[in-house]
Amino acid sequence: MSLSNGRHYVAIPGPSVFPDQVLRAMHRPGPNIYAPEQGVLMAGVQADLKKVVRTSHHAAMYIANGHGAWEAAVANVLAEGDRVLVLATGRFAHGWASMANAMGVETEIIDFGLRSTIDQERVQQALAADKQHRYRAVMAVHVDTATSVRNDTKALRDTIDAVGHPALLMIDCIASLGCDKFEMDLWGVDVVVAGCQKGLMTPPGMAFVFFNQKAAGYRDQKKVVSGYWDWRKRAEPEEFYQYFGGTPPTHHLYGLRAALDIILAEGVESVWKRHEILANTIYTAVECWANDGPVELNIDDKECRSHAVTSVRAGAPHGTGVRDWVFEHAGVSLGIGLGMAQPDDPEWHGFFRIGHMGHINSQMIMGVLGSIDAALKALDISHGSGALEAASSYLANHNK
Ligand SMILES: *Cc1c(COP(=O)(O)O)cnc(C)c1O
Repeated sequence: MSLSNGRHYVAIPGPSVFPDQVLRAMHRPGPNIYAPEQGVLMAGVQADLKKVVRTSHHAAMYIANGHGAWEAAVANVLAEGDRVLVLATGRFAHGWASMANAMGVETEIIDFGLRSTIDQERVQQALAADKQHRYRAVMAVHVDTATSVRNDTKALRDTIDAVGHPALLMIDCIASLGCDKFEMDLWGVDVVVAGCQKGLMTPPGMAFVFFNQKAAGYRDQKKVVSGYWDWRKRAEPEEFYQYFGGTPPTHHLYGLRAALDIILAEGVESVWKRHEILANTIYTAVECWANDGPVELNIDDKECRSHAVTSVRAGAPHGTGVRDWVFEHAGVSLGIGLGMAQPDDPEWHGFFRIGHMGHINSQMIMGVLGSIDAALKALDISHGSGALEAASSYLANHNK
């Protein structure tokens, strides 16, 4: 007998749950890539991606994962010897920085630790001290998937403007696009990187770089950009994929088309709202557990918590205990404490993360919370009571 038989929920923070419509759209024979419909498909996907990231500027599509988008962004606007300011609030800005480093870019990193957002004062000081405007860009992550902190991107723009610094603002939106509210143009973001396998609900394999005119100007100043990553032609998808770019990612495009249809039918703002309410349902439950015992949210400040992923501290070895229990007895996979500790450190076993990005609804979230609640009881991990009651009340009151 196993209580985990039935549909499994992979509640890790990406790849996320793929809708049946997306999978069905991909389950078909290969197309003739030279047929005119292929160009139409790509142009439509490109236009609709821009609606999700809220830009009227440019979108370049790549056959790549998020790491590819990181490299693409750097390749187009930065050169060997350039200096950038990187703002780290977890693991992923460090990852992007080391990618830039490997390409000869000098990275100066301000690390804000694992439990807080970017301190705008410190950014302001760093930019003001850069009198010669050596920083070509400020690089940051919107939602860090390890810590589940959400950084205020608009505040970052305001800080850069207040100092009058010309640096580009480059944001990693891989975890948050299609989950947390994000406004590329309104917030004045120059370059955004994203992937298809998180809020965009499509199997991993496509990545995107969005860029405005200012960033395009940086590209134009560069003498050399490696051919695959050069975004100039990619911003013209019909031409590019049919004649210059090689074989397009045919089935990913079908899947992504279906995913964008789902997002646009719901409405981008409604998608954000759904994530907000479901995330708050999770915080409500974890706050109850936190009333007694070791379990607590990694991010204290409610305003700085992501709506796409929640990082929970449970104390070692309870993090791994909970993950193993819900996998074995409830059919749920939770995320590991990536970036919170090293795998050879006993602390590594002190965390779990709940991915709640993309194709998620109330019953999935209540199911995950109920499963964790049962795990805490089964493993005798002390915890405050009433978490499920509070979560369901929250849902009831915010879903009218
Ligand atoms: C997932 C993720 C990445 C890395 O994406 P890959 O597709 O795994 O290369 C980078 N940044 C953030 C914020 C992410 O969530």
